[in-house]
Amino acid sequence: MKVLMYGTHPYEKPYAEKWAQQTQTELKMVDEPLNDETVDLAKGFDAITVLQTASMGSTAVYEKLASFGIKQISCRMVGVDMVDLDAAKANHLTVTNVASYSPRAIAEMGVAQAMYLLRRIGIFDARMNQNHDFSWNETLISNEIYNCTVGLIGAGHIGTATAQIYKALGARVLVNDIAYDPALEPFAEYVDRETIFKEADIISLHTPLLPSTRGMIGEKELKKMKKTAYLINMARGALIDTSALIKALKDGEIAGAGLDTLADETTFFGQTNVAEKDVPADYKELAAMPNVVITPHVAFFTQTAARNMVQIASNDAITIANGGRSRNEIRY
Ligand code: NAD
Repeated sequence: MKVLMYGTHPYEKPYAEKWAQQTQTELKMVDEPLNDETVDLAKGFDAITVLQTASMGSTAVYEKLASFGIKQISCRMVGVDMVDLDAAKANHLTVTNVASYSPRAIAEMGVAQAMYLLRRIGIFDARMNQNHDFSWNETLISNEIYNCTVGLIGAGHIGTATAQIYKALGARVLVNDIAYDPALEPFAEYVDRETIFKEADIISLHTPLLPSTRGMIGEKELKKMKKTAYLINMARGALIDTSALIKALKDGEIAGAGLDTLADETTFFGQTNVAEKDVPADYKELAAMPNVVITPHVAFFTQTAARNMVQIASNDAITIANGGRSRNEIRY
């Protein structure tokens, strides 16, 4: 079995090498993503895996893969927006993704940001570094996590992992989800969203970005939150109305925000040396606030997640190449 791994990142290589050794697979890793220019590299291979956000190119790419005898495209990631699913279907290519590679990775980043804000680490750090101010006063007193109520909106894979961690830390955990999962009962209490806005000291968002969730935290919702509450977004930036968030932070409607995603992040997150003119004004404004912490969509980025993305997609690739089925197949 020969597998070609497109768009290989350096951090994936040790996991890919180990997987190839364990499964006795001949694996070739290339840096290039899959597209019209690189599709011919797949000739002579039985299966491919990809990791990219850029389009895979024209329908000729799918036709060529099929003509090489390839039966699948296994994505080492969740999103499959870069795949032309119609072209894949027309060429009998099964597309798989890795929907859940490490919910715990994202959950831990959310909790870490909340703890950072709760204990005012950013504020103390800025005071010490910028003003050589080594003092503290009554405005900087913190709460302890076991005295907090945490409200999670969206309690799927990541929300559930988040609930478990907060519960283990002694917090009261409220969840709001359109679906009910009895497995969450030991960790959390299902409530309506209004209760979360009213009672939570930390609100953490874990829903997908859908027409029904886009902008679900706007001016009205921010006003309903406690003035001492922190808003954490580990899901998608557009769940929050960014200008309403900036206003709420300026007006003291909420205490702070932890964000791993921003609405306009695709233009600059993941890039190096972003030109000053290309850095959005809303990012600059948020980043300048000491009660805001922003990371560039890296909550997923742990060793466990990287290993699982490589292993799960590569296993799917050889299973389908051997005529088998995978539960990670995208149904379309
Ligand atoms: P999931 O599908 O397991 O869970 C999503 C949950 O949201 C489900 O339980 C669903 O019922 C619920 N939901 C949907 N609409 C809702 C609504 N209107 N109100 C309340 N709940 C609603 O997904 P997941 O694996 O937990 O991932 C959640 C999101 O996290 C993803 O969609 C993605 O946007 C984001 N994510 C971020 C990173 C990162 O690195 N920051 C990594 C992976 C995923």
